[in-house]
Amino acid sequence: METDTITAISTPIGEGAIAIVRLSGPDAVSITTQLFQGKNLTEVDSHTIHYGKLIDPDTKEVAEEVMVSVMRAPKTFTREDVVEINCHGGMVSVNRVLEIILSKGARLAEPGEFTKRAFLNGRIDLSQAEAVMDLIRAKTDKAMSVALKQLDGRLSGLIRSLRQDLLETVAHVEVNIDYPEYDDVEEMSHEMMRQKTKEVHAEIVKLLGVAKQGKILREGLATAIIGRPNVGKSSLMNTLVQENKAIVTEIPGTTRDIIEEYVNVRGVPLRLVDTAGIRETEDIVEKIGVERSRQVLKESDLILFVLNYNDELTDEDVKLFEAIQGLEYIVIINKTDLEQKLDLEKIKELTDGNPLITTSLIEEKGIDELESAIAETFFAGDIDTGDLTYISNVRHIELLKQAVASLEDAMEGLEIQMPLDIVQIDVTRTWDLLGEIIGDTASDSLIDQLFSQFCLGK
Ligand code: GDP
Ligand code: ZN
Repeated sequence: METDTITAISTPIGEGAIAIVRLSGPDAVSITTQLFQGKNLTEVDSHTIHYGKLIDPDTKEVAEEVMVSVMRAPKTFTREDVVEINCHGGMVSVNRVLEIILSKGARLAEPGEFTKRAFLNGRIDLSQAEAVMDLIRAKTDKAMSVALKQLDGRLSGLIRSLRQDLLETVAHVEVNIDYPEYDDVEEMSHEMMRQKTKEVHAEIVKLLGVAKQGKILREGLATAIIGRPNVGKSSLMNTLVQENKAIVTEIPGTTRDIIEEYVNVRGVPLRLVDTAGIRETEDIVEKIGVERSRQVLKESDLILFVLNYNDELTDEDVKLFEAIQGLEYIVIINKTDLEQKLDLEKIKELTDGNPLITTSLIEEKGIDELESAIAETFFAGDIDTGDLTYISNVRHIELLKQAVASLEDAMEGLEIQMPLDIVQIDVTRTWDLLGEIIGDTASDSLIDQLFSQFCLGK
């Protein structure tokens, strides 16, 4: 298929210290190199950035100082050769760069044409591919809608804009290093770098904050029902399964098939896993002591602690309260249809602000309240998948954590006035890490691995 080379300003007009003019198409590199004074861009490695000057072909004068990124097909946004020219952000200079590019035979892109090309060339990025996998595994409608959002490119869009911020900072510093005679410029880039790293850091920390919810949506909330014998644990379990759609998944391939039961409670998938005897634990403290049982209970995301309204508080109940301190739990006082023997004031004290629900499972009372409490514990009310970008993928979370760490290194370096070209190493590393999420710097083997998973699940 014959295509021409298109170009456009790809940053919002009038915003930011640096603007980008992007070219895509077979002549992207050759057009740029004709105008670029610095080196021959047709000979540079793909995915590299170069500082130089852009020459006006009419006047032969230097039009702009620029940073040029050369990215060759197919690992580019459009899968075509792409060049991004970073220049100063003012209207006049950006338009001048665009005009010069147009005069050399590139065509002005129609609105959305880069994206259209990316689509037509079959480009789908890693996070989008992974979203497809998540869709296949999605346990509830809400998990499904999170995956759909990701497929929609929300995460990719956010990561791209964070990378862009970092790239601009690096570009700015590079330019300043070439002009060390201006001391105040050095000062300025220090401040700019601090500002930008702080902003990007805050964004990623925010993303990680909702990651836990995403993980739960995807994998289910590991839930343990605990309490003394006969308080109603099995009844609670049956109620939850009957009231809600139970999802049973079998994972073959292990010596014995592991059965996980999923119960969908208001869009929150509860995963009732029968490992290490967490699921229905009555004499756990008795058997292994508070410390060990704490370890076991820590493996669950949520503990449903059932007490008997018709019974006095025992030492064992108190020990269970001790074992779950600091963990996520809901106290359920069951059998309210019977005579009260439990000291509610004492229970309130022990419950320490955690949700406390009264039920009569036999009379089917309090179940709605319990389900609301379960949903609220983790999602502070309704999950608004419209407003949040959930990160539900373990690989993404890991990379984001590394990105935070490397930004913190950069921030520390700035704090102690380390030279900017040193600090920049950490910033560039962050840029790389974020790139791995969307597949820009991922190695081939990683891509192979992910796609083979995808095909398997298809
Ligand atoms: P577990 O040993 O903690 O699993 O308790 P079970 O769920 O097996 O229940 C023990 C007994 O209590 C059973 O006979 C249940 O029918 C009964 N039970 C459960 N919930 C209630 C309730 O809300 N009220 C009354 N009166 N009995 C209940
Ligand atoms: Zn039981």
